[in-house]
Amino acid sequence: MEWSRPAWVEVDLGILATNVRLIRADLPAAVQLLYVVKDEAYGMGAVQAGQVALREGATHLAVYTLEEGAVLRAAGIRAPILILGERVPEEVAGVLELALIPCVSSLEMARRFSEAGVARGRPVTVHVKINTGMNRFGLPWREVSSWTPALLELRGIEAGGVLSHFAQSDEEDKTFARLQRQRFEDCLRVWKAAGGRVPLAHLCNSGGFLDLPEAHFDMVRVGLLAGGVYPSSVCRRIPGIQPALSVRTRVIAIQHLETGDTVGYGMRWRADRPSRIAVLPVGYGDGFPRVRNQGAALISGRRASLVGGVAMDALTVDVTEFPEVGVGTEAVLMGRQGDEEIPAQELARLKQSVTYDVLVGWRRRLPRVYRNSEAGPA
Ligand SMILES: *Cc1c(COP(=O)(O)O)cnc(C)c1O
Repeated sequence: MEWSRPAWVEVDLGILATNVRLIRADLPAAVQLLYVVKDEAYGMGAVQAGQVALREGATHLAVYTLEEGAVLRAAGIRAPILILGERVPEEVAGVLELALIPCVSSLEMARRFSEAGVARGRPVTVHVKINTGMNRFGLPWREVSSWTPALLELRGIEAGGVLSHFAQSDEEDKTFARLQRQRFEDCLRVWKAAGGRVPLAHLCNSGGFLDLPEAHFDMVRVGLLAGGVYPSSVCRRIPGIQPALSVRTRVIAIQHLETGDTVGYGMRWRADRPSRIAVLPVGYGDGFPRVRNQGAALISGRRASLVGGVAMDALTVDVTEFPEVGVGTEAVLMGRQGDEEIPAQELARLKQSVTYDVLVGWRRRLPRVYRNSEAGPA
């Protein structure tokens, strides 16, 4: 049986499909689209979101963990899946079993995959990851002349691609991004001159896709933007892209307060007039920022201010001016209602974090409800 909770994450797969279609249409035909579905496609559900994106023109998916790759394969997804980040030797067998494409960031791991490829008698396709300044994963760009021949002499692996990752692509100042692009190109030149193949070169995330067309190479890796959220306030806008994920709930109780009464733990809010308070059954245990007397919910298409502190399981809003609101009225904690919107950016400010963190922060405790799952290609 389906347990239903009056609080849920709503994923509009029709909006997601439109976003992917718009991103695809914005790219030159020769540039492929990889959709990054790590961490449940930023909270939307990796299988559902991945299937929609593949239908709308994405050619590849990417995950960060073997488990995430296994879930996609178990759902019958056959598309190429890149596994980002770096692997440990214990993961080599699993990568092969799931037919994932590993990124190699070190000669040690390249050797492990090489041995595995030799052992099974068929080369393992890998993507060579170059560190051009992010300084997290990748073979160092400064040492390209030494690792290139070492990689190229390994049997049992073949390069299906070469990639790097931007440290900063969505800010106004693109100086460092351009430097990274230059380093990447220099490395590609050395690699090719030594006989290395580059079936797919890729560097861009959402910010790079939007603002650095000169860095698109053969493929872009888009995550956040497919869900309709922009990586920053300054990057280029594509008309029609909208957030696919929203967080909704229903009023679970109404409290009538007299002047001087307080609300919640620590009595952090005191009524300065007779007040009506709506209780919404979502708290920091669901991923809502743990704020007090800050933030809002949308009810009846208007903003109702959050009063008191957010508890683990509930938050409270002032609905004194909303006589129509009662138990069961729908409220929106992130997303649109009528003409009003609470964007992910607003919650990111409350959380003193980034939109990425807000999206993946909505806990599994909130069931995912899918809308427009039948939305097919245009
Ligand atoms: C997460 C990730 C992306 C996608 O970034 P977005 O900003 O969400 O588009 C691309 N490449 C790598 C290596 C990543 O880790």
